[in-house]
Amino acid sequence: MTLSFDPDAISLPHYHFIGGETVAASEGIAMYRPSDGAAFGDCPVAGPDLVDQAVQTAKKALKTSNWSGLRPRDRTRAMHRWADLIEQDAEHLAKLEAVSSTRPVGHLVAGDIAVTAEQIRFFAEFADKEGSDLVPTSDTSLGMIMTEPYGVVGAITPWNFPLSMAGWKLGPALAAGNAVVLKPSEMTPFSSLRIAELSVEAGIPAGLINIVLGDGMVTGNAITGHPDISKVSFTGSTAAGSAIMQNVARTGIKPMTLELGGKSPQVVFADADINRTAKAVAQSIISNAGQACVAGSRLIVAREIAEELIAAITTIMRGVETGPTWDENTQYSPIISQKQIERIDTIVRASISAGAECLTGGQIMDREGYFYAPTLLGNVSQDSPALAEEIFGPVLTLQTFEDEDEALALADHPTYGLAAGVFTRDLSRAIRVTRALQAGTIWVNRYGRSRDHILPTGGYKSSGIGKDLGRDAYMANRKSKSVLIDL
Ligand code: NAD
Repeated sequence: MTLSFDPDAISLPHYHFIGGETVAASEGIAMYRPSDGAAFGDCPVAGPDLVDQAVQTAKKALKTSNWSGLRPRDRTRAMHRWADLIEQDAEHLAKLEAVSSTRPVGHLVAGDIAVTAEQIRFFAEFADKEGSDLVPTSDTSLGMIMTEPYGVVGAITPWNFPLSMAGWKLGPALAAGNAVVLKPSEMTPFSSLRIAELSVEAGIPAGLINIVLGDGMVTGNAITGHPDISKVSFTGSTAAGSAIMQNVARTGIKPMTLELGGKSPQVVFADADINRTAKAVAQSIISNAGQACVAGSRLIVAREIAEELIAAITTIMRGVETGPTWDENTQYSPIISQKQIERIDTIVRASISAGAECLTGGQIMDREGYFYAPTLLGNVSQDSPALAEEIFGPVLTLQTFEDEDEALALADHPTYGLAAGVFTRDLSRAIRVTRALQAGTIWVNRYGRSRDHILPTGGYKSSGIGKDLGRDAYMANRKSKSVLIDL
């Protein structure tokens, strides 16, 4: 079986999905394929009235299905069937996703789709295992902490891993007994529609997952400001997270989970295994062409091994093989849009003008589509434009240090604290540095997520509030009530 396909032969959905039904949509935002820059369709935009229809449908579906009142195991079983259908639909889903996104079709089948299905199963299992607690009080009373679902959760996802981001939001919300109104990114809306359809086929009551398409300003704002949305779960940029906080503060306070941007350091000590470290460091910025929230975009390395490590990393960077996302052999992704590739290039140029040395890459690749060469910038000062902001592209900066204190000072970013990597064979140092680093996730002698969905993910500082994945994500979809009964 080959996964490669003709992108012009794929039939793309053009509707919203509310109450288990497709809702016809008029023309919306023009869409361009990252792999070849071709205009190929448009993403409808749901206005406030349609968002309200989705929210009211979700509320009604919660009531009529009694989803949160079912035996929890029944929720688990329905979600397991849903995960099975997602896996069975892998080829179709992968094609829908690969057309508009930066995700190569081969990676989608082996990675994103398999992981999304497994995450749904993981969260489904919490339904009958996590809940309320009896707590110690005096023997004349009985104390309890009861938990219950919020009701309708408003979820908003980015374009970089559309399927797994939808899974991060839908899995825990549904398992915890909620309904969801989800808005995927206007650049990658198709796979979310498809998995919502599959949820109904799997027996999850229609109306529990509703997908409204659109942009942030119209559709996103209507979701976060809707009075009947009881909780907001957002993954995207720090700027959009901040705008959402303002909208929520203005329209009615509600709890929020915000998974935002990063500028994550990878700190390499002189005793690290050079080849293994080079692979991990390079892969973390090559993967999805650096368009990952946890991309390890700042390399901070002990001066005495810098030259050797740089040689190994640049060799890997120069060897990447590009191709369109619809070719099953493609390993290296395009950049999502013309606008974003121009932004990456502008930051790289400004950094070089400010004194950075381009050690490899540093340019748009000479081929169709939006491809940027994996880039390593040396001699980067702390005030370089390359360090100030998340670039969200395949750009790695290099800084060197003399001792551990200097390494930690360089690693600390004024704005972001999403993830960090530490490479050393010295166990004591690994633990000391892990304790000192200000980030929500630390990887030691590796960089990147495993398939251990039990580990929560979330940011320190402006990288976010709350956690996705893990037990935390399930509990974040339930509110707690303290109960004290006099006996
Ligand atoms: P983005 O913030 O531009 O958009 C994300 C989503 O929010 C989209 O669906 C968009 O339409 C919507 N949106 C934008 N403005 C909004 C507003 N004011 N109100 C409501 N919705 C709004 O981000 P992006 O370019 O799609 O994704 C890349 C960003 O996502 C990066 O910053 C990356 O670090 C971050 N990200 C974070 C994590 C994490 O776990 N921390 C994971 C993936 C991506």
